[in-house]
Amino acid sequence: MDLIAQGKVTPDHVSWGQELRSRFSVYFELVRGSNDQCTPENPFLYLRQEKWWTPFQQDTKGAAPLEATPTVGQANANIVFAKIVAPVANWLITPADRLCLREALVARYFPHAREAVSRLFLEGSVQETPGAPEPDADDTYAHPGRSAGFRRKILEIYDCQCAACGLRIKLPQIKDLTFVDAAHLIPFELGHNDHPSNGIALCKNHHWAMDRFLIAPSPDGHWQVSATLVARRSPGEKELLELKNERVLKPSEPAFQPSEEALLWRCKRLAA
Ligand SMILES: [Zn+2]
Repeated sequence: MDLIAQGKVTPDHVSWGQELRSRFSVYFELVRGSNDQCTPENPFLYLRQEKWWTPFQQDTKGAAPLEATPTVGQANANIVFAKIVAPVANWLITPADRLCLREALVARYFPHAREAVSRLFLEGSVQETPGAPEPDADDTYAHPGRSAGFRRKILEIYDCQCAACGLRIKLPQIKDLTFVDAAHLIPFELGHNDHPSNGIALCKNHHWAMDRFLIAPSPDGHWQVSATLVARRSPGEKELLELKNERVLKPSEPAFQPSEEALLWRCKRLAA
């Protein structure tokens, strides 16, 4: 993902080269156990068990499936590569999606090293001015347009769990990967507020429903639903209605609870 972010490889053609090997070892050092050896060649070959990853070896006749772990010599010769296909490839295209996938992978496999690993992500250069100073923690949410930081923080404090239905990403069944959104309570266009207390983690369905004022988290910590919903009209509406008075999942950091102002804003606009 770092190399994709930098435009050095594409999901279609991930080169087995020195750059890939060195990015691997940088991450490896942070998550290794004491007996672990740094062997990027192993995942490069054996990830082929996942249908979305196919390693190839280039020869005079073209590209043939790679049959053995690739060597350092092959890295120097640049004759081995892997192809990533959907659905994983779809999550590699935009910085926001990549960030989401990175967060999911780290949360699933390296939760103990989350902070250190996240600092290595080479995504910042895509969105931020090169050479600009790192914003400090208090400053991160004060500026408009910092949606990557907002999203990251919301997913972190809700542990990637929908605050309505509790849906959480399940890996490694990556095929059925479902992502949770970081939703603004008062829309960003109105308040330009990217502070986590103006946000909540929601699955796609509940994000959609909240944005259409069919459901709203209320200041008393429970969900309210719109009176326009009719249970017998569709199973979807029935499900939304069942959310009524269910508890709103709280974030892990009390300081980042949704603000009363933002919750009231939502409740007042519930479709009547
Ligand atoms: Zn949900």
